[in-house]
Amino acid sequence: MSVTETTSGISFGLSDEQRALRELAREFAAKEIRPVAADYDERSQHPADVIAKAHEVGLMNPHIPEEHGGPGLSAFEQILIGEELAWGCSGIATSIVANILGSLPVLLAGSDEQKREWLPPLLEEPLLCSFALTEPGAGSDVSAIQTTAELRDGDYVVNGSKMFITTFPPDPTASSSRSTWTSWASGQPTHPRSPSRSCGCRLRTASARRAKGSRSRCGRST
Ligand SMILES: Cc1cc2nc3c(=O)[nH]c(=O)nc-3n(C[C@H](O)[C@H](O)[C@H](O)COP(=O)(O)OP(=O)(O)OC[C@H]3O[C@@H](n4cnc5c(N)ncnc54)[C@H](O)[C@@H]3O)c2cc1C
Repeated sequence: MSVTETTSGISFGLSDEQRALRELAREFAAKEIRPVAADYDERSQHPADVIAKAHEVGLMNPHIPEEHGGPGLSAFEQILIGEELAWGCSGIATSIVANILGSLPVLLAGSDEQKREWLPPLLEEPLLCSFALTEPGAGSDVSAIQTTAELRDGDYVVNGSKMFITTFPPDPTASSSRSTWTSWASGQPTHPRSPSRSCGCRLRTASARRAKGSRSRCGRST
């Protein structure tokens, strides 16, 4: 019986499911991350095979709602996973959990159609997505971003410099996990009728382009 079931008031104990989740993440960190972390650091290599294993055991994309095929775990449960993975290696853990950040703009501001198009593929294979907000002149002060995304003939033309973007660009030598799309944050009007910030997503891999058409993209005012 879980702690939460035996108390009548507010409980800070974990449920059985949460404990099992934490254990799974801890075991993964001990067996799959810690033994290889130093080697990846020394070689400065993208941990594609570790990411693929994390995907296989269900430790990636815990945030994707059930209606889109994901487990729909809470923010607290996502933190339980992230904390244990980071015990293994904070760098590798960041790559494993970065899809949560990358896909958040789609979850928060995407249309139903965009969610259906962009979220399920993340569950099918160890694909990575990213969120490009930070720029050389805009870190904490995100209102200083200079990048523009201009709608031209139904396609977005993005101009600007981004930096510190986790899991972007993809490692071309990585075979089992690859970067597929990026949410871009831009600070300029993208369309005369939408004088607000925007986020656009663009497919980045050859296989994804084959599947979706050569310049598949989505964008939406937020
Ligand atoms: C591992 C890692 C992964 C990242 N991944 C991503 C990503 O995927 N996508 C993305 O867009 N960005 C990413 N970032 C960038 C991150 O969001 C920025 O580094 C962060 O916003 C801080 O910006 P900055 O580095 O330019 O520091 P600055 O904004 O220049 O801040 C420098 C220092 O000044 C302090 N400071 C800033 N403003 C104030 C203020 N008004 N008052 C008091 N103190 C202040 C800060 O606390 C900090 O100590 C990543 C960064 C790291 C380290």
